[in-house]
Amino acid sequence: MLVSRYTQFLPQGDGSTVIWHSVFGRVMQLPDQLADFLKEAGDFNSHDFEEEFGEDALKILSNAHILIDSTEQEQVDIDSLFTKHNPKHKSKVKALSLIMSEECPFRCVYCIHFANSKHYYNQEKMMSLEVAKASIDSYLGLMIKNGETDFYINFGGGEPLLNYRTIAEILPYIKECESLYDIKIKLGINTNLSLLTREMAETFIRYNVEIATSLDGTKSGNNKVRLTKDLSGTYDSIMRGFNILKELGHPLDGFAMTVTEANLSDVDTEIIDWADSLGMKEVRIDIDVVGIVNSSMQKIIDKLTRVRKYAMEKGISVIGFWSRPAENLGLIPEEEDIGFCGGERGNSLCVAPSGQVFPCGYSNYQLGNYQDIPTIYENSAYVELLDNRNLNIQPDKCKKCPIFGFCRGGCLITKEANQGSTEKQSAMCELYVGMTEAIIRQQVTA
Ligand code: SF4
Ligand code: SF4
Repeated sequence: MLVSRYTQFLPQGDGSTVIWHSVFGRVMQLPDQLADFLKEAGDFNSHDFEEEFGEDALKILSNAHILIDSTEQEQVDIDSLFTKHNPKHKSKVKALSLIMSEECPFRCVYCIHFANSKHYYNQEKMMSLEVAKASIDSYLGLMIKNGETDFYINFGGGEPLLNYRTIAEILPYIKECESLYDIKIKLGINTNLSLLTREMAETFIRYNVEIATSLDGTKSGNNKVRLTKDLSGTYDSIMRGFNILKELGHPLDGFAMTVTEANLSDVDTEIIDWADSLGMKEVRIDIDVVGIVNSSMQKIIDKLTRVRKYAMEKGISVIGFWSRPAENLGLIPEEEDIGFCGGERGNSLCVAPSGQVFPCGYSNYQLGNYQDIPTIYENSAYVELLDNRNLNIQPDKCKKCPIFGFCRGGCLITKEANQGSTEKQSAMCELYVGMTEAIIRQQVTA
């Protein structure tokens, strides 16, 4: 019997060590004595192990893939995870995102839409009703054919409210589709709220469109990085949108912020107090996935950990891309298709106004055109997207990473935007691993 080379050890300093398998997960807390044995053990006899640590320990650690019969068998088990969750010639599509507008009245300094996506330069800036309807028809057809029952359509951008006219026409169409197919479709929109009017807000409430928005912290922090085209602050225009929704009895229960070098100093507990005063329950804090943040990653990890703990005490959850691997570690890989995001898993189709389809709205990796949606799973680009998920072909750096199977290479855009440079990718890896360990520590002591 052997201890898997993928076993990770995180000593807690209280006589216990948290361990997990970097592909199969199963986080558990062990006494140091057992953890030390696992760290040092070579090939050993299972009866001796059972005698020293008990029958239950042997069973639990074997089920968790920590104790294995051979590395060859372990490799077979890892390969079968890939084939199970990435079947050939089968759609994995779950959600449709319509990029309603490539334009935006804001010029946030970190915006990944303008920093990475080249489709922004296409001639077609606004999605037409025709492309939107055809994309929805094809998406619903593909999902129904595949036996899927959880439908989700999102309106994104750029700023989707620049094309509100089309959204207003599409919403009744989606209702007609619901009746026609006898299904329920969940709807969402990502907007900066600056163009929101009372009429638009009432429409979204009537059609149950879930609104997600970004605000980069308090007024001073926000106005350093979220700017209009003429470089003035955007806080007041965003708050006007917040207040319209509040007056209509639908206050937002959270917001997302992006941290760059410029506003890092504004990320602190005051943001949580502010969110709490508005009755919010979730704050999303992302570190710019494209540009370099010069501050030490350890400083950012310490800050996020402190803010997250403070928020937890107020019943507010603080999440971000950095919490994804830790959230994934709570899942069972044999049962769930674990990935960094819907784009990476092949679950999302994002249609641009030009009709091009991407796995993520900020990506330049074209899967096809909206006419291809019914058979997108046969397109070589979609097949390749899934093939690239094979853990066997990941770079050595990932294979040796403690959160290998739960991060799976991270955000597609970080890789696309930083091709040929490892500096940003390494910084994000440090963030993901450091935050996963910090979250595990917070959970153990909670
Ligand atoms: S991208 Fe980085 S953090 Fe993610 S699995 Fe690879 S090495 Fe680990
Ligand atoms: S690739 Fe995934 S994590 Fe990265 S921006 Fe797109 S959806 Fe978000």
